[in-house]
Formats: sequence, C-alpha cells, structure tokens
Amino acid sequence: MFATWRIGRIFGVPTELHWSFVLVPLAILFYAYQPGYGLRWPQVQWWSGISGLLFLFVLIHELGHALTAKARGVKAEKIILFPLGGGALIPEEPERTRDEVLIYAAGPLANLLVAALALGVLILQPNGDMLIRYYLDQSSNLIVLPAMLERLLGITVAVNVVLAVGNLLPAYPLDGGRILRALLKVGIADRKATVITTVMGITIGLALIGVSYVLGDPLLGISALFIITFSAAELNRGWQRRRLARSVMEQVLRPSNDSRLYANDTVYRARAAFALTDATVLPVFDNYNELSGFVEKEVLQREADRNHPLRYYYEAEFITARPDDNLLDLTERIVEANVYGAAVYAEGKVVGYVYTEDVIRLLDRSRRRFYKRFKAPASP
Ligand SMILES: [Zn+2]
Repeated sequence: MFATWRIGRIFGVPTELHWSFVLVPLAILFYAYQPGYGLRWPQVQWWSGISGLLFLFVLIHELGHALTAKARGVKAEKIILFPLGGGALIPEEPERTRDEVLIYAAGPLANLLVAALALGVLILQPNGDMLIRYYLDQSSNLIVLPAMLERLLGITVAVNVVLAVGNLLPAYPLDGGRILRALLKVGIADRKATVITTVMGITIGLALIGVSYVLGDPLLGISALFIITFSAAELNRGWQRRRLARSVMEQVLRPSNDSRLYANDTVYRARAAFALTDATVLPVFDNYNELSGFVEKEVLQREADRNHPLRYYYEAEFITARPDDNLLDLTERIVEANVYGAAVYAEGKVVGYVYTEDVIRLLDRSRRRFYKRFKAPASP
C-alpha cells in the first residue's frame, strides 16, 4: 500500500511518488475514449495538462511545509505525492509553537501566493477582468471564448484557492487543524487540544460527506473519509496513551517461574509449556540460566519441526525494564524496538515479563468497561 517511487531531491528534500500515480494516465485514457469514435486526442492533451498542473500545485504546497521546516531547524524527512494530494513527512513535532504554526501555514500560503500571481497575470490579459467576473458569477453570460492561456490561468487561481482554503479547515489532520492544535496547546493540555481538533475533524468530515452528496462530488467524499479516519485514529491513540499512563505495570506483569524453557529444548517441549499457559510468548534461557530471548507460540505452531531445538525459532532481541517503570514509556520502548516484550529486572534478577499482547488485552478490557458504563442503566 505504501510502495513509492523516488523521483529525486527537490531543494534538498527527497520526493517520492505513490504507486497509485499509474492510475492517472489510465483514468485520462478512460475518460478520453469514446466508443465508436476512438481516442479523442484534444481531451487527452487537456486532461494531461490539467493533471500536470494539479501535481505541480500540490508539490508547491508540500514544499512550502518542507522548506519552512528546514528553515526553522526542523527535520523534513521527505515529501510523498499522491494523485489527489500529498504529505510532507515531519517526524518530530516542532518544539516552539511559532515554528509549528509557520510550518503548517506555509503550505496553504504557498498556494495563495501562486493564486495571487496567476490572478495578476489574468487581469493583464485582454479579456481578463471580464473572465474574472464570469468565474465569480457563473450565471452571467460569457460572450468571448477564453484563450487557452486564460483558461489555464483561471484554473490555476481556482485550484490554488481551493487547496489553500480546504487545507485551512480547522480539522485534524488538515493544516488548519494542526495550527489550531498548536495554538490550543499554549493554553490547555496536549491531550485536550488533540481531543478538540480530532472531534472537529470527525464532525467537519461528516459535514463534508453531506456536502459531497449534495454536490455529487465523489472526490470530496473520499477526502472527507480520510479526514474522519485520521482523526478517529489520532483520538484513539490519545485515549490509549492516557489509559497506559494511568495503569501500573503489575496489571500486565507476568511473574517469572521456575519451569523455564532453554534454547536447546525441543519444540515439542515448548509446545507443552504453551499448553499450560494463556501467554502467546514465553522466555527462553541459555545454559547459564541467563535470559536469551523470547519465542512466540504461533511461530512454533506454524513452521517448526517438533524435534528441532528452540534456538532455531526464538527471537534473541528484547528490552529490559525495572518494576517501577512507567507503563506508557515501557510500551513506547517495546513498540520502538519492535520486540515481543520486555524482561523486568530487580537486583540483577529477572522478576517477570511484559508482553505487547498483554498490553493490548489490558486496553481492550478498559474499552469494554468504558462501553459497559454507558450501556448500564443509571442506578439511583
Ligand atoms: Zn498541507
């Protein structure tokens, strides 16, 4: 899904095209083909030109973000371009509010600048002011046929204004929503600022779906679905973080016991050990009784030969923790390291384990309790 093709560095920012760009020429050919008539070349040329322009305007928008980030000393990792939009990947949140606002405002501002320039050139055209009046009031009559340049200038103004205004809607994950969140964070907690902007994202997204239905515009509907999906995911992430910050390690800690699995034990023995527990991961020790990694139940069920030693199948990477570590920090470290879990040490000895699986289970349990509270009839 995320396959991209690197087209090069633009002003030093690596720029990639998403694979779905191959759909653009196909779509143009599809719309330009008329049964019984064949391919209408003027249509092919026109829509290729329009696609090229749209691509350019999205690129200018993303460069606005990326170059401003660089200028403010914030890393802009890369730009990814999709047929209907793009994204500048800025991995770390800027520390200063002013930088964050500037970086997210720079994309829409770049589009407004292009629109203003195109409008200036359009006014200078022979029929310029008449065309502008027509664009603003489509019910008026157009008595002259606009020249190609004039039409392209008109489209440039319209597309860039739509890009700027659309992205400035105060809805996460749009630029406007991120600017709003950065400003809110000055006065209220991060968590509240995220809840406000993501709930606005879901609300505005739903409203846009209604608008897209009225206008009969499926592209707007798709964009609205993206806004809703991203907002809901961010809202959920915030909720999970809060849950973990409020939980303690004992809720997910599996104490270590004496029946240990060793790297030289057979798969057969490990399967028997899994049969006695609901854990999906178990620790594996070496001959010196030192923890050397973890083995997953599913791996043994799927591909392992029962007579093979466990060392063929276990994962030697893990992280370590202390019993008083914060569960949110620990979970972040586990996810970052992409391991099964952490071994918890106290006074040089393993006292237990925290597995990703159990953290997910803990979150599921709190979620069920949360829904139950709303479903249960209110007691006096
Ligand atoms: Zn943007």
